[in-house]
Amino acid sequence: MLDIPRALAEVRERIAEACLRANRDPSEVTLVAVSKTAPLAAILEAVAAGQRDFGENRVEDALPKIAQAAQPADQPLRWHLVGHLQSRKARDAAGAFALIHSVDSVRLAEKLSARCAANGRAQAILLECNVSGEATKQGFPLHGWEGDRDCLEGFVRQVAQIAALPHLRVLGLMTMAPIVAHPDQARPVFASLRALRDALRARLPDLPLAHLSMGMTDDFEAAIAEGATMVRIGRAIFGPRG
Ligand SMILES: *Cc1c(COP(=O)(O)O)cnc(C)c1O
Repeated sequence: MLDIPRALAEVRERIAEACLRANRDPSEVTLVAVSKTAPLAAILEAVAAGQRDFGENRVEDALPKIAQAAQPADQPLRWHLVGHLQSRKARDAAGAFALIHSVDSVRLAEKLSARCAANGRAQAILLECNVSGEATKQGFPLHGWEGDRDCLEGFVRQVAQIAALPHLRVLGLMTMAPIVAHPDQARPVFASLRALRDALRARLPDLPLAHLSMGMTDDFEAAIAEGATMVRIGRAIFGPRG
């Protein structure tokens, strides 16, 4: 059995060290504890150890946990949807999460916005970008965008369309790096996402895109070195998935 408070403390320490090496303030990096396969009891242990941001992969797994985890009095829990969101689940996801990291089409964004119109709240989202080109990864296809003007311009148009939707707030970008032998090999993917964010900012100056959600158990230090503001960490906190 993993000692969750201790694992959390170790991860926080490693985040702080990675920030120090990158000359960054640790308060710029939010640790999202990815609790997708962890039972409620494990989540509650993490809450008791001060963790407030939790990431879930599937709407149907998340909703019961969200309902059952009582809100601490000091600072409410923030639930993040980090896994792929199917359009037909947009209804259930809208409003249930503080942040949806995985918006990967204009159509999904439109569905979320329409749903939020009905419940009267703006939904914060990130746009998931496939910058690695791996076929198994979700996200807007952006592999090689650096050398492909049409690819970038097409994405700029889609982002502008999404940003114009009335009930969404686009806060930044998210990506998943490929599994590599050494975390440093993932750095170009993280650097590419940051450069993409900067290119979007230059085209759409009204859209701040403050957040970069990138980095998981095996590569979060490399992601912090490249500017991650949110790291999504599961196994290092909750242990290996069964
Ligand atoms: C599972 C998952 C994570 C966490 O992965 P670990 O390797 O367990 O840290 C992060 N992001 C997404 C989208 C995931 O599905």
